[in-house]
Amino acid sequence: MKQIETKVIIQNTVTDIIGCSGLDYYREPLFGYAAAADPIFHSYQTVIGPGHFLPTDLLPQAQTVFAFFLPFTKSILEDNRTGHYASREWAQVYIETNQLITEISQEIKNRCRARGINYEFQPPTYVFDRELLIANWSHRHIAYACGLGTFGRNNLLITRKGCGGRFGSGVLDILLFPTPRPDVIRHCFQQTRNCNYCVKVCPVAAFSGPHFRRHACYGQCLKNDAYYTDLGSCDVCGKCVTGPCGYLEDNS
Ligand code: SF4
Ligand code: SF4
Repeated sequence: MKQIETKVIIQNTVTDIIGCSGLDYYREPLFGYAAAADPIFHSYQTVIGPGHFLPTDLLPQAQTVFAFFLPFTKSILEDNRTGHYASREWAQVYIETNQLITEISQEIKNRCRARGINYEFQPPTYVFDRELLIANWSHRHIAYACGLGTFGRNNLLITRKGCGGRFGSGVLDILLFPTPRPDVIRHCFQQTRNCNYCVKVCPVAAFSGPHFRRHACYGQCLKNDAYYTDLGSCDVCGKCVTGPCGYLEDNS
C-alpha cells in the first residue's frame, strides 16, 4: 500500500508544481521507475562513461530510481521547426523548464522527507564533463531504464508522447514496483518510413559519421546561447526534435 501511496504523492507533486507554475508548455507528464539494483545502471559506466553515477552515488541506501517526462505541446515544437537558430520561444522554454524541473525535484524531496522517505536528484542540465561532453547522470538514459521509451536515430529517448520534452530523475530509499521497459524500438520511423528528418535537419551534420558528433552539436548550442544573450543561459538547439517523433499522440 505504501508503494502505491508513494507513487501517488510523487506524481501529484509533479502535476501540482506544473499547475502552480502557470506555464502552459506541457502535456500530461509520464512517470517511470526502476530498481536501483538493476544492472543497467552499472552498464552505463561502460555505455556512457566510467564517471556515470550509480543510484547509490546519489543516495547510499537507494532502492528505486524515478524518472518523469514533461512532453511539450505541439505549438512549442512547431515554433522551433524553421531557421538556423533555435526559436526564441524554444530557448525561453528551455530556461523556464530547467527552473521548473529543479522546483519539482526539490518539492518531491520535501514531500518525501515529510513521510520519512529520502529523495535525491541531479539538476536538469549541466551534469556533464565540460571537455568530454559526457553526462555524469544522463536523464534520458535514466528514463530509458525507467521504461519511458526507446532511443531513436536522433540519439534521444522517444516516449509514447514523443521526444519533444524534458526529463527529470532522482532516487528514493523505498522499494517501488519497476515500470516494464519496451522490448522493441518504437516510434523511430527511420526503418519503417525511411525517415531521416533528424539527420537532414541538423545544422552541423552531427549525425553524419559513425558516432554522434557531440562537440559539433554543443558548438551549435553555444551559438544559440550567444544569439540569445538577453535571455540567460540557453545552450540548446533541438531542431532534431521537431520531426515526426517529436510530438506523438499517446495511444499507449
Ligand atoms: S526524425 Fe525520423 S529518423 Fe530521426 S529519430 Fe525521429 S523518427 Fe527517427
Ligand atoms: S540539437 Fe541541433 S545541433 Fe544538436 S544534433 Fe540536434 S539538430 Fe544537431
